[in-house]
Amino acid sequence: MNVKLNAVKGMNDLLPPQSAAWEWFEARVRDLMRSYGYRNIRTPIVEPTALFVRSIGEVTDIVEKEMYSFSDALNGEQLTLRPENTAAVVRAAVEHNLLYEGGKRLWYTGPMFRHERPQRGRYRQFHQVGAEALGFAGPDVDAELILMARRLWDMLCLRDVRLEINCLGQPDERQRHRRKLIAYFEAHADQLDEDARRRLHANPLRILDTKNPAMQELVAAAPSLLDELGEESRAHFEGVQTLLRAQGQEFTLNPRLVRGLDYYNLTVFEWVTDRLGAQGTVCAGGRYDGLIEQIGGKPAPACGWALGIERVLDLLEQDGAVPAPPQPDAYVVVTHPPAQERAMQVAERLRAAGFAVVLHVGGGSMKSQMKKADASGARHALILGFDEWEAGEVTVKSLREGQGLATQQQQVLLDAPGALERRLAGALE
Ligand code: ATP
Ligand code: MG
Repeated sequence: MNVKLNAVKGMNDLLPPQSAAWEWFEARVRDLMRSYGYRNIRTPIVEPTALFVRSIGEVTDIVEKEMYSFSDALNGEQLTLRPENTAAVVRAAVEHNLLYEGGKRLWYTGPMFRHERPQRGRYRQFHQVGAEALGFAGPDVDAELILMARRLWDMLCLRDVRLEINCLGQPDERQRHRRKLIAYFEAHADQLDEDARRRLHANPLRILDTKNPAMQELVAAAPSLLDELGEESRAHFEGVQTLLRAQGQEFTLNPRLVRGLDYYNLTVFEWVTDRLGAQGTVCAGGRYDGLIEQIGGKPAPACGWALGIERVLDLLEQDGAVPAPPQPDAYVVVTHPPAQERAMQVAERLRAAGFAVVLHVGGGSMKSQMKKADASGARHALILGFDEWEAGEVTVKSLREGQGLATQQQQVLLDAPGALERRLAGALE
C-alpha cells in the first residue's frame, strides 16, 4: 500500500469556503493600494541566500534559525525560500533601476517561509501583504504608510488594533546606545538568559525584543535609545508624530520596539492586538534608509510595512466580520439528455451577461439534480426538461425565500432576446 502523504508541518492548505475570506481580503487590499497610488510588484519566491543574510542581518532569529536554505542540486547555488519580501523588492528595484526617475510606491502579497515552531498565528508558510515606499526621505511617507494600514483596518471593520511607534535613530546613535546597553547588561549578567548572553556583544539591541517573561523587568529598565537621539532624528520622529496626531491617529511610544530585522533606522512601528495571544503583532514596519545602498543601489531612503494575513483573518473571523461568499445566481438542471447542448448554451449566454452560473454535469434524476442545485447556494434553478426542450423554454424556479417574487416558478422563452437575463436580473434585485 502506498504511504499517505501529508502537507509539510506548519504549511497549510487553504480550502473553500475559508478561501473566500482570503479572496475578499485580497480585494480590499487591492482597493487600498490603488487608492494610495501603490503599484503591485511580484518577485520570485526563491532568492540567493546572501540577499537575506546581508539585509536582515546575521545575528537575527530569521537568519540564525528560521530560513529554508538549500543548495541547488544542479549547480550548487545557495538559495533561500524568502522569509520576508522587503529585501527582494529592493533587489528588484536596484536590478531594474526603478528609482532612476524618483521615488516608487510598491506593494506585494504572497507566501513567506520561516522555520518556526508552528502555533496559532505562527506558521512555516505564512502570507504577507507589504507596502514599500522607495526613495522618499521625509516623515510624511512614514505617516502615509501608517495611515494606509489604519485605512485597511477601517475597510475591514477590524477593531482593537493599536499603534506603537519608536525611533531607532541612525547608526552612530545606535552605536552610542549599544555601548551603554552592553555595559548595563554586563552589570546584570546573572539575569541574562542564554539567548541574551549570546547576543550581548553581537546584537545587544535585540535583547530588548526578548519574549522571555523572566527578563522583562531587566529590559524595561535598560538605557533608552531615545535618550541618544540627535537633533535630526528627533525632528524626524517629531514630524511623524505631528502628522499622525493631525490625522487623529492615536499611538503609544514604545522605546523597546526594536524589530527583528537589522535594516531598520529612524521610525519603526507595529500594529498590535491583545486578541491573538502571544502572536499579537498584525503589521510591522519602519524606515530602512541604508538597505538600498547595502544591496548595491545608489543610496536612497525607504520605508515600508508588512502584515500577516493569517493573523488579520483570525481577528476578522473572531468578529464574524468576513462577509459570506457570493453564491451562484443560477444552477442549470438538465433532465432531458438531448437538452444538454442547449443547457450549456444557456449557461454560456448568462455568463457572458455577467451572471454566475453552475451547470449540472453528469445527468441524474430531477430530484437529485434539484438537491445539488439547492446545495450550491444558487438563488435560482433553471430547469431544462422534456417539456421545456419541446417548447424552447426554460423554467426559472426560485430556490431562496424572500426575493419578492410574484411567482415561485415561471417559464421563459429562450429565443426572446434578453428575456431570461431580465428575468434573472429582476428577480435578483
Ligand atoms: P513575530 O515577532 O511575531 O515573530 P516578526 O517581527 O518576526 O513577528 P515581521 O518579520 O515583522 O514579523 O513580519 C511582519 C508580520 O508578518 C508580523 O507582524 C506577523 O503579522 C506576520 N508574521 C511573521 N512571522 C509569521 C509567522 N511565522 N506566521 C504567521 N505570520 C507571521
Ligand atoms: Mg518572528
